[in-house]
Amino acid sequence: GGIIDLRISQRAKGVPRSGIREMFDMAPKYKNVISLGIGEPGFPTPEHIVEAGAKALYEGHTKYTPNAGISDLRKAIAERASLDGLSVDQQNVIVTTGAGEAILLALLSTVDPGDEVLLPDPAWPNYFGQVALSGAQLKFVKTYDHDHFHLKAEAIKKAVGERTRAIIINSPSNPTGAVLSEEELEDISRIILSHNLVVISDETYSNILFDGRKHTSIASLPDMTDHTIVVNSFSKTYAMTGWRVGYAIGPSDVISQMAKLQESVSSCVNAAAQQACLAALKGPQDCVEEMVKGYRERRDLLLSGLAELPGIDCLMPEGSFYAFPNITKFGLSSKEFALMLLEKAQVVVVPGTAFGEGGEGYLRVSFCGSIESIKEALSRLQNLLR
Ligand code: PLP
Repeated sequence: GGIIDLRISQRAKGVPRSGIREMFDMAPKYKNVISLGIGEPGFPTPEHIVEAGAKALYEGHTKYTPNAGISDLRKAIAERASLDGLSVDQQNVIVTTGAGEAILLALLSTVDPGDEVLLPDPAWPNYFGQVALSGAQLKFVKTYDHDHFHLKAEAIKKAVGERTRAIIINSPSNPTGAVLSEEELEDISRIILSHNLVVISDETYSNILFDGRKHTSIASLPDMTDHTIVVNSFSKTYAMTGWRVGYAIGPSDVISQMAKLQESVSSCVNAAAQQACLAALKGPQDCVEEMVKGYRERRDLLLSGLAELPGIDCLMPEGSFYAFPNITKFGLSSKEFALMLLEKAQVVVVPGTAFGEGGEGYLRVSFCGSIESIKEALSRLQNLLR
């Protein structure tokens, strides 16, 4: 030990490790590993977007930008939001380092230590750390297989207490693939309004919808604009995970607080990446359609393969690019089952419990990678489980 005993803060210790990362950290011990673990599009970033990013660098977009992002991009995001029925302008928009930072800044700007934040169970595990950093208490609202894992207004109503200040919702959902209907969101909005809550609506997968479903943003429902911070991202829609650009749309006083906090965190998002995202929004959108078609093809391939496996039941994903099969018939915990798949078949999936207790008995299987990886994983599972 040194002279100074380095003390680790309670805040850092209070942030749990992601159960998704935990599985990946084990994978390198095995050879020939196939990963259906990560939520990363297998498609490259569309060429015209890459070109815009590269051109931006040569044209000198190599300096700081305003905290909330470049004006042209904020305007383009506001215009895009009008397609979801939101009437907002650039004052209502902040560009962030991915949707992840947007959620953290939204929480830091709206909740205090001692407040309570509601979260669906199961949910994306990064929320656990984000809420922990805000100092608020987490309270889970369970969702169920028999409801296709749709978050129900009744369950929220039961969970709301004196100290409840905010709720995070996520439709389409990671990890369950559930997509909430307009009617379900209306029911939820009535509870938000009657208890004067803030809703952080993570719409990262809003473009990845199947079987003719339409996206509804809860912010577009009556009286909800003042209660909602919409979070979205370029990561999944445009296959841009590594560019690290997301955004939030909300009441201008909240957005300006978030921009002030961004000054302390990163000052602003990478300038050239912002130009690339401007090109993504302004350019042709058929690349998005093509990728969604690709995800649907992968979903159907995976689901018909899973249906042939003994003991596995899986709901049809309605959106996002995750399947959430039920493996309770095997009598193993999710973690035991995921470890067995890694050891015996070198297939990586994520145990449902990485997403909360409500994920026990399930696995999260990503279908955003290559067709070949899905086929190979299915044939290994066939051999193992038969
Ligand atoms: N929200 C959800 C539900 C996600 O699944 C992810 C990424 O997996 C994100 C947000 C983060 O996206 P970004 O890359 O924009 O930080």
